[in-house]
Amino acid sequence: MKQLAAAAMLLALNSAHGATRTVDCGRLLDLKSGTWRERVSIVIDNGSITSVGPMTPGAGHIDLSDKYCLPGLIDMHVHLTSETAPAIDAYRDRLTADPADLAYRSVKYAERTLMAGFTTVRDLGAQDGLNVSLKRAIASGAVPGPRMFTAGKSIATTGGHADPTNNLSHFLNEKIGTPGPEQGVIDSPEQGRQAVRARYKEGADLIKITATGGVLSQAANGQNSQYTEDELRAIVSTAKDYGFRVAAHAHGAEGMKRALRAGVDSIEHGTLMDDETIALFKKTGHWYVPTISAGRYVADKAKDANYYSALVRPKAAAIGPQLQATFARAHKAGVKIAFGTDAGVFPHGDNAKEFGYMVEAGMRPIDAIRAATVHAAALLDQPQRLGAVAPGFAADIVAVDGDPLRDVSVLGQVKFVMKDGVVYKQP
Ligand SMILES: [Zn+2]
Repeated sequence: MKQLAAAAMLLALNSAHGATRTVDCGRLLDLKSGTWRERVSIVIDNGSITSVGPMTPGAGHIDLSDKYCLPGLIDMHVHLTSETAPAIDAYRDRLTADPADLAYRSVKYAERTLMAGFTTVRDLGAQDGLNVSLKRAIASGAVPGPRMFTAGKSIATTGGHADPTNNLSHFLNEKIGTPGPEQGVIDSPEQGRQAVRARYKEGADLIKITATGGVLSQAANGQNSQYTEDELRAIVSTAKDYGFRVAAHAHGAEGMKRALRAGVDSIEHGTLMDDETIALFKKTGHWYVPTISAGRYVADKAKDANYYSALVRPKAAAIGPQLQATFARAHKAGVKIAFGTDAGVFPHGDNAKEFGYMVEAGMRPIDAIRAATVHAAALLDQPQRLGAVAPGFAADIVAVDGDPLRDVSVLGQVKFVMKDGVVYKQP
């Protein structure tokens, strides 16, 4: 009953005033100065913000006069169509789950993410076009979820991180067949170009590559370089032709350097970056997306003898605990950082824990919030539309009870969520 009443109220809120509405905020974060602007009215028309000015309370306004308002949060690294599970369940899924099973599950992951205050995400990899379909379902209003920018299928090399046939029996491999560029697996510059074009055809918004081994793939090495530099250059240059930005998963330093030299836009995880890598980040101006949350989660689960497979467990124990210290070094050195968590490696909806980890490692709360708003929007190439509460921007607004500049953990209890002018959660 309580849920029904809440749903009815949201419906009334979203339909009562047509396309125009006003949100009255007790405090609104000014990202530039890092201070709170007191008593502000935000006017919204047709999903966009038209004005932000002194509060003029009126009938029908959304009253957040006792709240702290900020732009909708952005997570630059999620996998909305999967979620962490013990190895035995993950293996069972590989044998028994159809794409439709995974698609239905992803509906609740998307909703949890939005309700946690993340109004935009970058989805960095799924099979069978699941993330592209989920994006369409959300954009059409069929499913509540964050605005998605998707990579479609991650591009990998044979046996590499994101080769979907890793460590299957010979029997199964023979039945499934060798995946190629269409399925996102390449072994030459030529195939790299083909895989990028296949993502264009698939409906992706950007390209994701796995430049080195990874923790959760069923393979021995979690950090080795998995592409030659000419393969990376072929992928990046073709991606540019299609207006795609390129995100590169990387743990090992050599793979990171090759990817940065080839011109990728962001490095994801970056665990074992050395001083030379940091210098290269600074020289190229490319972005670092740390995903400390994933590191903390896999390090913790590696203590459970049964959670990960025998191949994965030692990698999780070795690589996971290092991420937060890497983030601290990169931040101190002045590397450009955009907020990203790798949600899906841990339960969806816990994305805001990353803020706490960033602050714990020496970043000021205002800079952690900038990483999840203006800086993320810059990496998405959406600096005029996302990441700020200002005229012309999408009406993505969240609100919390306390001051996140004093205690960043309040971002874990978001009380109000608006995306494109539509209210999804209210106090
Ligand atoms: Zn990931």
